[in-house]
Amino acid sequence: MPTSTFACMINCMDGRVQEAVIRHLKARLGVDFVDAVTEPGPIAHLSKGASVWVDNIKACTDVSVEKHNAKALAIVGHFDCAGNPVSKEEQVKQLHQSVQVLKEWYPHLPIYALWVNEQLEVEEIVS
Ligand SMILES: [Zn+2]
Repeated sequence: MPTSTFACMINCMDGRVQEAVIRHLKARLGVDFVDAVTEPGPIAHLSKGASVWVDNIKACTDVSVEKHNAKALAIVGHFDCAGNPVSKEEQVKQLHQSVQVLKEWYPHLPIYALWVNEQLEVEEIVS
């Protein structure tokens, strides 16, 4: 049986944005599966520095990278985020800060930053 290929998304737990990001990453990267690390507004946590949330995100992402050999990571922000109720402009800043954190953790992996808009379309902020 051929080995499956994976990417990993660090996404909000919001049910509206799961499928759009999984579809996007499968099409963009040609992977078989997308591992899901979810928290409410993960970019709010990653951009603010050390916390139990950040520790959890790192521990979950490590499993995807080490056990599934995830070939790329995506960090996601979205419209109307209940866990991170700030403007798109502010979230874009948080996405850039989060990319820097992920690059330190996983310098060998491509990192994408994605924005999901009101139409549930995925925009690439960093690619
Ligand atoms: Zn959210």
